[in-house]
Amino acid sequence: MGGIGSGRGFQGGKITTSNMLALDARKLHRKGLLVPGRTFDMHWKLNGENQAAIQIQVEFDYVILNYRYPIDNGAWQSMEDRIYFEWTDCHFGGQRVWFRCPQEGCGRRTAIVYGDSRFLCRHCHKLVYACQREKDDYRPIRQADAIRKQLGWPNGIANLEGGKPKGMHWRTFYKLKARYDTHANEAWALIELRLIQMEQRLLRKGIS
Ligand SMILES: [Zn+2]
Repeated sequence: MGGIGSGRGFQGGKITTSNMLALDARKLHRKGLLVPGRTFDMHWKLNGENQAAIQIQVEFDYVILNYRYPIDNGAWQSMEDRIYFEWTDCHFGGQRVWFRCPQEGCGRRTAIVYGDSRFLCRHCHKLVYACQREKDDYRPIRQADAIRKQLGWPNGIANLEGGKPKGMHWRTFYKLKARYDTHANEAWALIELRLIQMEQRLLRKGIS
């Protein structure tokens, strides 16, 4: 493990392949790096500075990637990923190299794997992103519930709203209530959106 410069790593934030690190099997091959036994570092620049580095070790039919990426509260996670590659014959001679997407259940042939926390094909990153988005649906509900607790109201945005707790300043109450409304409205909007999406999926399947 290791080999990655300290303080370097992956930029968090939005997950689109355009701001992810791209590891291109063909480029590696063109540069003569895809040779078993070789180990080298790759650096990605952002704003003219080295922002990310991976150590790549080439084996007979796979590469081992060693890298780190930032997780919550300034901590770093070390990763070691194995990505298989294979060759196909070109129509007019020569061979073309491909990665196999390392995601379980995928294994797609792809020239480029994209990295944030893991190096996967484009399709898998989209799926991962979609799952993260769905988990985020619960965030406004959790935030609303946290305020309900402060106000001494029963848990759950579907429940009736209570009044101002005894001993709480009106100003504090109005402030909390305004924040509560924002989170609760967002939660209801998401619930409605998911219901519409579910309905559309069922209609497409002809079950309705
Ligand atoms: Zn994949």
